[in-house]
Amino acid sequence: MFLAVLVMAGLTAALASPASAGISRGWEHVCGEQTFSVLSFLEMSSAARGEQLREPELEQAAKEAPRRGKPDRTARAVPTYVHVVTPDGVVGSVSARSIREQLTVLDLTFGGFYGGFPTGFDFALAGITRTVNAAWFNAAIGTAAEHDMKRTLRRGGDESLNLYVTSGAGYLGWAYFPSILDTSQAYLDGVVVNWKTLPGASDAYAGRYDLGYTSTHEVGHWLNLFHTFEGACGPIGDRIGDTPAEVLPTTGCPIGKDSCPGKPGLDPVHNYMDYSYDACFTEFTADQAARMQDAWAFWRAS
Ligand SMILES: [Zn+2]
Repeated sequence: MFLAVLVMAGLTAALASPASAGISRGWEHVCGEQTFSVLSFLEMSSAARGEQLREPELEQAAKEAPRRGKPDRTARAVPTYVHVVTPDGVVGSVSARSIREQLTVLDLTFGGFYGGFPTGFDFALAGITRTVNAAWFNAAIGTAAEHDMKRTLRRGGDESLNLYVTSGAGYLGWAYFPSILDTSQAYLDGVVVNWKTLPGASDAYAGRYDLGYTSTHEVGHWLNLFHTFEGACGPIGDRIGDTPAEVLPTTGCPIGKDSCPGKPGLDPVHNYMDYSYDACFTEFTADQAARMQDAWAFWRAS
């Protein structure tokens, strides 16, 4: 009851202030033309549990790409530029080895190595930049610092993944849906991750978020995937047919959780698009692969 009241309060508040074009807040629920967010509430409850805040609110409304059919495993190599930003040349200055390991994690997780469906994507390191800039290192979503950083550092075209390694501004990371490319702020396209989430970079999130799967999750958004808890137990959910519904983000790895008992399947705690700990994640599904491939063909393929 407490939860329902708070979610509804968030919904009412969000509907009273329509999302601005292009930029908006993080955890999104798209319902027809109306977009609302309950991420603030979710993040507050995470903070109350002493958990790391995963993502900020993003007021960007995702758009659907035309459906093309079944997923295939044809390799789609994604040129990947990694931008390491530090305040002083020391803090957050992740090693080339951590960056290579991060690319390997992306290849393995998108390749179905740990389970699930091989999505057909792999990632080729196209370049590394290193910048000392305290404002950019601490850039929060939607700020002038984020805009400046991305206008300056972004490389490649719509097909290129730009991975910004910063403080995360208090979060593990964030990403924009590919429909950002249709706006005047296309330069925002890309993924921001907290440097401590890269493999071998730090012990700060040991046992929780230190295996590099934050980048996997964010690249899922970059390829137009919603969270598995999108839409809670409702009829639309995450718009993916083969991910069971769940009412809220998962923390840890509560195998067997079933928060939508009226719906088929247990909560998809092993899915990269949930909020579980890294070690709990093992899969994308075939329908998620198809959605990502549709997004690739519609927005990113040359
Ligand atoms: Zn997310």
